[in-house]
Amino acid sequence: MNNARPREGPPLPRFAQLATFMRLPHVPDPKGLDVAILGIPYDGGVTYRPGPRFGPADVRQHSRLIRTYHPVHGIKPFEALRVADVGDVRVNPMDVQNNYARIETAVGAILDAGAVPVCVGGDHSVSLGLLRAVARQHGAVGLVHVDAHQDMWDEHFGNRYFHGAPFRRAVEEGLLDTRRAIQIGIRGSVNDAADFDFARQHRVRTIRGEDVAREGIAWVIRHLQRLGRGPVYLSFDIDGVDPAFAPGTGTPEVGGLTSREAMALIRALKGVRLVGADLVEVSPPYDHSHITSLLAANLLFEIVSVIAATRAEKRRRRPGPRKVGRKERAR
Ligand code: MN
Ligand code: MN
Repeated sequence: MNNARPREGPPLPRFAQLATFMRLPHVPDPKGLDVAILGIPYDGGVTYRPGPRFGPADVRQHSRLIRTYHPVHGIKPFEALRVADVGDVRVNPMDVQNNYARIETAVGAILDAGAVPVCVGGDHSVSLGLLRAVARQHGAVGLVHVDAHQDMWDEHFGNRYFHGAPFRRAVEEGLLDTRRAIQIGIRGSVNDAADFDFARQHRVRTIRGEDVAREGIAWVIRHLQRLGRGPVYLSFDIDGVDPAFAPGTGTPEVGGLTSREAMALIRALKGVRLVGADLVEVSPPYDHSHITSLLAANLLFEIVSVIAATRAEKRRRRPGPRKVGRKERAR
């Protein structure tokens, strides 16, 4: 069994030793884990400013300050769940297709082990590989997609596999249950009004950055009911958050979520059946004072904590063994 607990605070200073996500142990084999945190240092899919290949390393470094108790959920996620840093995907920086195969293999192993993959990118192209692996295990999944961009463009310079297209490809490949899909924080200039057609045609619910500003995050959270009871994937592009809070990213758009709204949104996923998550587009070369990586580290803690809080609530609702009726046995 993995002893998957963060290293103690004192007497070992949190700035000492090798950096892992939230100072969790590095456990390359996901067997026995509940949540496996995986780095995907790939940025061959960017269209503008590069750099998210350095995201996993920098988020590890700036997650040293994350502690072990979540005061809002009232839970110690690393005691409730076995969580570890399983390292990075051995990416191929030169070939997007080969990289997808590598992501699918790594994430497939995590899913086969019964753990939830929580991945730190990398640019947003990686989500297609992740969704392929997740859908193979769970079928078409619901989606919470936080982003300034819909990432449903068709192609860029003739290439259909880049960070502006993963969710269009995912819909085409049948990986998403679009009736249970929601995009939050979409904003900024696009090339044409028709850019929004694909999501509309597939009935993906789109909540724009302007909607969040006008109606408030509580209103946004009410729309999460759309996710239902089935398996859901969370894809969090850090550029969904305003560049005032997250400047270290490749395609920044002003008028985004605050860091508080981002945290509230993830906390509101309590009760949702998250089967996988990613946090992408952190580009440390464009960061200032590490604030983007610090935000990403905290959002990572929020994701693991909400998974822990959801499971704890489920256990509370099913206290102890009970008699199994004939109907249930027949299922
Ligand atoms: Mn994106
Ligand atoms: Mn984006």
